[in-house]
Order: sequence, then structure tokens, then C-alpha cells
Amino acid sequence: MEKHRVVIVGAGFGGLFAAKSLRKVPVQVTVVSGTTYHLFEPLLYQVATGILSEGEVAPPIREILRGRDDLDIRLGWVTDVDAGASTVEVSAPDGTIRTIPYDSLIVAAGASNSYFGNDRFAEHAPALKNIDDALEVRSRIFHAFEMAELEEDPAVRQEWLTFVIVGAGPTGVELAGQIAELAHRSLKGQYRRADLSTTRVILIDAVDRVLPAFDGSLSAAALKQLRRLHVDVRLNTKVSDVDAYGVTASDGYLRARTKFWAAGVAAAPLADRIAQSTGAGTDRAGRIEVEPDLTVAGHPSIFVVGDLAATGLPGVAQVAMQGGRYAARVIARRIAGRPAPKPFKYFDKGNMATISRFSAVADVGPLHLSGLIGWLGWLGVHLFYLIGFKNKVSTLLHWTVSFLGRGRAERITTTQQIHARNALRVVAMLPVSAAAEPLGGAAAVPSGGAAAVSSGGAAAELPGGAAALLAGDQVAPVHDQGLRR
Ligand SMILES: Cc1cc2nc3c(=O)[nH]c(=O)nc-3n(C[C@H](O)[C@H](O)[C@H](O)COP(=O)(O)OP(=O)(O)OC[C@H]3O[C@@H](n4cnc5c(N)ncnc54)[C@H](O)[C@@H]3O)c2cc1C
Repeated sequence: MEKHRVVIVGAGFGGLFAAKSLRKVPVQVTVVSGTTYHLFEPLLYQVATGILSEGEVAPPIREILRGRDDLDIRLGWVTDVDAGASTVEVSAPDGTIRTIPYDSLIVAAGASNSYFGNDRFAEHAPALKNIDDALEVRSRIFHAFEMAELEEDPAVRQEWLTFVIVGAGPTGVELAGQIAELAHRSLKGQYRRADLSTTRVILIDAVDRVLPAFDGSLSAAALKQLRRLHVDVRLNTKVSDVDAYGVTASDGYLRARTKFWAAGVAAAPLADRIAQSTGAGTDRAGRIEVEPDLTVAGHPSIFVVGDLAATGLPGVAQVAMQGGRYAARVIARRIAGRPAPKPFKYFDKGNMATISRFSAVADVGPLHLSGLIGWLGWLGVHLFYLIGFKNKVSTLLHWTVSFLGRGRAERITTTQQIHARNALRVVAMLPVSAAAEPLGGAAAVPSGGAAAVSSGGAAAELPGGAAALLAGDQVAPVHDQGLRR
């Protein structure tokens, strides 16, 4: 008899833990992932600030799940779910479409960034959600210091040494702390003309405290630690516009060449398709409403876990891991003909955020830790959950170099990355029909996807300065930081 077929969408925390939990269950598992790696998002900011390499936070899925005869891994983006036919449609990197049938479906496609309807901000203020984002953010940070070194005009040099981060949740706080640490500690003595001690890191949020999901005492401790790092924290401040030269905030226009967005998340694009196919409701962020057993109402074979599910729980890794494990348990019991387990209940193991080296905050049950103790707790937990022994060892080595010493080993931006960025800008300049065709579907890659852009044969037909960009006319990064008014 054919085995029960479980299809898992996504190999993030939810998908991976579901796949692992199905190890001894007599089912055939297919993991469909848009990337070849599992991304440890909590350490992405360290890739963005030169501490870790991308490989250290993104081990290959095939390596993590090796040796499993019951499991098949397919690279591709799920573009549709047909709940009636019990199939998913998968778009492979070459654009071919395949249909995969399922008996049970676990959707763990996560979240993407939200600019709250102002997607045009993205060009000037990238967010941090995937490896491409981290490399882009890294490139902008280190490029800004280089431009400050080259700049003759002191006012413009100061603009290069001003960094604005919108959103004071964990990602914004961690980025702000690390950029401040780079300027005031790690890069000290490496520039001759730019005075990095004048670097301004401005952290803006519309609410009245940093890390609003944490206990109030920890928000206050984090604020104190940020100020000690010379981060200019502006609370109760709304950002209404972002352009190439700065941001418009409720307290005025701030000139800054480098801006980052850490203010909002929305459901992954697949959520829309699932909602249409199943009739499921969605919340304001577009997440799918689920039943107490994490299935979609009226579709007991479809589970939605992690950041994509509207459960009222926070968008953190533990929720996704426990959700993935729970969905696997429900399936295992169904196959064994046993009664369903109790409804999904999240066990909150705590919440942590770092501010800088030796300084973090941690909410662990009744304990509210900050400073060095919080940081040691953060270090232990992240090492424990980081997947793969090799990654744990090399991460520990990098941390030793960066936190005990001053080293930032990962500071490279390759010319190819710059060309890719230029090519993507060209795609954005094209009319939709043209963008879809000659540039190999880059425009159709869901957010989070590694966009493979080929310039072959397309340059001659491109508008304006686009052809020159594709031909590699500009070898320096051409993001908005490079433009002069
Ligand atoms: C910068 C950053 C820092 C964070 N820090 C922390 C932290 O310190 N602590 C904490 O607990 N949480 C943190 N989080 C949140 C945490 O990472 C998420 O809650 C968690 O990753 C959610 O797991 P998930 O499985 O739902 O989604 P993800 O882990 O995001 O996985 C989703 C996967 O699905 C893939 N995918 C998406 N759409 C498709 C599709 N259509 N087809 C195929 N594959 C698809 C994606 O490529 C991705 O690999 C952080 C998140 C970010 C972005």
C-alpha cells in the first residue's frame, strides 16, 4: 500500500522541525523549499554587520536531513495550493512548474517584510529577512564608511556617517547596537580621514519604548545600554517618508545616506493563495487563521504553522518549532488510528535580544536578565539552537574574534553582487510584461527568494540607463547612497 504523503512547505523553523519529527512515522515526506538552506534568522544581523558568514547561519537542508529514505527535498517555490485536488504547484528555479499531490500538507512559509503599504521605501531602506538582505545591509554599512573616507565635504561626510534604523524591536535594536559598536570600537583606527567617533546611529520607533514585547524593566535596561553606545533613540516618532538622502520623521527631516527598515512583518505571499483556495480567514498581517489543532477550518489535512499562522502568538522561532512538531504529532496519531492530541499549546521558553557585546536582555519566565548575565544566557541559547556541530564551532570562533577582539572577518561585497543589484534595479524599471520575460522571471521570485538574473540578450532592449547598468557600467554600488543631489 502506498504510504501517506506529507508535503511540507518551507524549511525554516516550522518546516524543519515538522520534518524531523516525522522521522519514525510511516509516511513519505516531501519538503519543498525556496532555498537550499535552513536560515537561522536570529543571527542574520551578525551576517549584516560582518561578524558571521552566511554559511554559518544557513546550513544546507540536505545536510541537516541526510540519510532519510522516507524524505525527499525539492527546490522550488510553492506558488499555489489546490485544496480541492490536494496538490501544490511548485515553480522550480528554471521556471518549470510541477504539481505534487499530498495527503497531509504542512505549510510553514514564514513571513516577509512589511512597509505598511509604502513599498517604495524598500529601495532606500532595505529590511533584514533573508541572506540577500543581510548581504545588502552589510554592503551598505561598510560602503558608507568607505564613502565617508572619500568625501571632501564635511556635511556630506556626516551624512555618510549617519545611520537610521526604523523599528526598535529586536532586529532594530540589534542592528543599531552593532553599527554603533562597529563605528566606536571594531573599526577604530582603520580610517584616516573619516572620524568614526562622529558616527550617529539613530533608532526610531512610533511607540514609547524599545523592545515593546519585553518586560518594561528590560525595555528600560535596553534603552540605557543603547544610550551608553551613543545610539540616538527617538521614541514616539513616526517615519512618514524615506528617500535617497534621509527620512522624514514626525520630528523633522533627518539626513542620512544609510537607512534600514525593521518595522514590520507580513505573511509570506503564499498566504493569499491558501486563503483563496480554502476560504480561510486572514488577520491584518495576512496570516492564515487556524483551528486549535493548527489546521485550516474545513480542511483537516492542511496545517499552517509558525509565522504564517494567525494564532495570536508572537512571531518567534519557538512558536514555529513547537507548531511544526505538533502538526507532525497529529499526523502520526491519525495514521496510527489514535485519538487526536490536545489542542496546540505554546510553551513559552522566553525572549532574548542582544544590544552589543556583553550586553543583552532576556525574559525567561519570572526572570528578567540584562547586561552580561543576559548576554551569557543569549550566547548559550543561540549556540544550542544553531544547527550543525561545524556551525557551532566556527560561530564560537568568530564570536571570540569579534567580541573579545575587534575583528569583523566578513566585510566583502563582490562585484557580482553589485551587478546583481544593478540588474534587479533594471528589472524594477521595466514594464511588468518586459520584466517577466527576458530577465528570467526575477520579478516573479517571491520575497525571500534568491533571484537569479541573467543579462543574456536582454540589455539591448532596455530603457534609459538600464542597458548601461547591465553592461556593468557602474562597478561601485549604485544604491541610493551613491547618488548626489
Ligand atoms: C532578522 C530576524 C531576527 C529574528 N530574531 C529572532 C530571535 O532572536 N528569536 C526568535 O525566537 N525569533 C526571531 N526571529 C523570528 C523567527 O526567525 C521566526 O519566527 C521563525 O523563523 C518562523 O519560522 P517559520 O518556520 O514560520 O518561518 P521561516 O523560518 O521564515 O521559514 C520559512 C521558510 O519557508 C520558505 N518559503 C517561503 N515561502 C515559500 C514558498 N512559497 N515555497 C517554498 N518555500 C517557501 C522560506 O524560504 C523559508 O525558508 C527573527 C526573525 C528575523 C527576520
